[in-house]
Parts: sequence; structure tokens; C-alpha cells
Amino acid sequence: MSFLTLTDLSKSYGNLHAVSDLNLSVEKGEFVSLLGPSGCGKTTTLQMIAGFIDVTRGRIALDGRDITHVKPNQRGLGVVFQSYALFPHMTVAENVSFGLEMRGVAKAERAGRIREALGLVRLDKLGERFPRELSGGQRQRVALARALVIEPPVLLLDEPMSNLDAKLREDMQFELRAIQRKVGTTTVMVTHDQAEALSISDRVVVMEAGRITQVDTPYRAYERPQTQFVSQFLGKANMLPGVVVHAADDQIRIDLGHDLIETRDASSTQRAERPERRLGLGDAVTLCIRPEKLRLCAPDAGRLAARVASRFFLGSQWLYRVDSKLGDMLVCCQNEGGEPFAEGDAVGVDWTSDAVRFIDEDARHAH
Ligand code: ATP
Repeated sequence: MSFLTLTDLSKSYGNLHAVSDLNLSVEKGEFVSLLGPSGCGKTTTLQMIAGFIDVTRGRIALDGRDITHVKPNQRGLGVVFQSYALFPHMTVAENVSFGLEMRGVAKAERAGRIREALGLVRLDKLGERFPRELSGGQRQRVALARALVIEPPVLLLDEPMSNLDAKLREDMQFELRAIQRKVGTTTVMVTHDQAEALSISDRVVVMEAGRITQVDTPYRAYERPQTQFVSQFLGKANMLPGVVVHAADDQIRIDLGHDLIETRDASSTQRAERPERRLGLGDAVTLCIRPEKLRLCAPDAGRLAARVASRFFLGSQWLYRVDSKLGDMLVCCQNEGGEPFAEGDAVGVDWTSDAVRFIDEDARHAH
């Protein structure tokens, strides 16, 4: 049964619909991320769950109880903001203690719970320090300890790592996920960082203009994006427009122009997974191919002849931008230590049919 349920949740400011008819069920112990570009309504949604913003319409239920109009402090949720909002005049231990004192937890019990919470975030030795004496990552962990110490039914995180530098941020992502697994707290995190959402969530909720576009496991959202927006938001994607020129029970053929036909066995994944709409002759579709699923080869060996326009060294990979008759394409190759292609090189671009996703915008689903 769903633990946190949002039903038709909406928030309007005058004519502006910040969040529209949002429906979401979060399971107990699940880690869900709200992901999307700036202004898509992520923070508004989180603030409505926290109770800091009144809802315009809809319902929020926690463990079967309607909390839509319950005051924030009576919801008892743990919240960590981007700014951490630690009390500067209190030590680390006092910051963590605060929520317990507010709830009238006795002093002896408080000491044990503070120790436990600081141990969880590996700050046991820094309880007497003040926030100004801590690094950004340490402050972030104090904020997490302060939210977790009250043992909230749900932990709400709003861009909790956006103040950290790239390396620390990556470390903290692993740490946050490990802590969440250990304590099992149902968690909803807001982020605009797709890599962060993909790496630590059980499910991602991709939002666009106040609405949910797709809810899925990170792997499925990346591999089977239902719209162009999702495919391009969750990483890089080559989008190739085409037209269905053959649609039979066992095969779909897409004309990409320039004598290029992509054939797809219709009995494979697409029909089994999303039977809502069958593609018909003349339908416009977009093919989505991730750069890492393309391969560069000798000029006459691939499906497409191309020329390397530019290349970028990413450490573990090379990212090439190539010009082809289908336009600019991005190709990402593992750096295996060999000599890379150079700018101006004539190359072939190749792919296998199972690397291709058909995105049918009319039906708002991918095949
Ligand atoms: P970001 O990643 O930039 O924080 P977000 O996805 O969290 O963005 P929200 O802060 O939820 O976006 O805002 C959603 C929309 O609602 C935006 O268009 C924003 O300008 C608008 N908005 C938010 N708060 C208010 C307010 N108090 N009054 C009027 N409009 C608001």
C-alpha cells in the first residue's frame, strides 16, 4: 500500500499553475526524486508535502491519513533545505537536539539519540563545534542528522547537495543513499541534477511545467523515455525524425530520409510493454539514440558516413560531434587508451536496432 499519496495536487498563483493535478504514490522506505528544469514546480510540490504552502486543490495522505490541512509541525516530517538552515549560535549537538526538545523528549534519551544520529552521519567527534567551524559537507550532514533524529515518517530534501563542490557532492550522494537504506526512511528529494536523481533514487518523477511527464525507475526512464523532453532531460540524446513506411504485425520500418530505413521487429519490447497505440503507415515518429549506443568505424563500414567536427575528452570517454547527412550527431566512445579520432577525420557511424527508441509524441509514449 502506498505510504505517501498525492492526489490531484495543484497549486496556482493567480493565473500561474505552478503544480497541476499531480498524482503520485510513494511506497514505505522508497527514495523518490522530483526532477525537472527550473520552475517546473518541484519545490512547490515538496513545500506542499511539508505543509509550508497551502494547496489550491487536491489531497495529501500519509499512511492512510489525510494531512492536507494539518499544520507543518504536526506532520512531523524531516526537512533538509538547500541552505541547511542550521542555528549558527548553537553547537552541532544542540542543533541536532533542537527537534527533540521541541517534542519534549527527556534529556537522558536525547543524549543517546543525538549520539546515534551524529554517528549515522559520521560526525560523532564534532558535536561541540559550531556550524561556522565546519566544512560545507559537514554542515550538510548536520542538517541530515537534525532531520533524521526525530525519526520522521518522511524525509523531504530540497536540493540538499547543491552547495557542495562536484567531488564532495558525489561522495555525499553515496552516503545519503547508504544512510537512507540503513534507516529506511521514506524520502522525497527535489533536484534538477539528472545524474544525482538517476544514481540514488528508487524512482524518478520527471516534471515539466507543473505536471508529471514520467514516473519510472531511473534505468527505465533513461532507457525508455516516453517523450523527447524526458529523453533529452535525462542525458544526451540524438533525435532523428522519421516517418512510418511499413507497419505490420512483425515489423515497423521508419524512413529517416536520405535512403536510410530503420527496421524494428515489432514483436520485441515495444509491443509487449506499451500496447496503447500501434504505429500506422505515415505516422511521424522520432527516433532517440543515446550517444553511447552509437559506434564510430571506418567511413564505408557504418550505416552513415560522417566527419568528426569536434571532440571532447571526458576522461573515461571521448565525446565526438560528427556531421552527417542526418545532421549533427553526438557519439560517445569509451576511452580504451587507443588513438582517438581527430577533428576532420572521415568516419562511419553505426548502431544496432535495439539501441533505438521510437518516440511517438502523439501517444506520449516510447516504443
Ligand atoms: P527551481 O529548480 O528553480 O527551484 P522549481 O521546479 O522548484 O524550480 P518552483 O519553485 O516550484 O519551481 O516554482 C514553480 C513555478 O511557480 C515557477 O514558475 C515560479 O515562478 C512560481 N512560483 C513559485 N512560488 C511563487 C509565489 N510565491 N508566487 C508566485 N509564483 C510562484
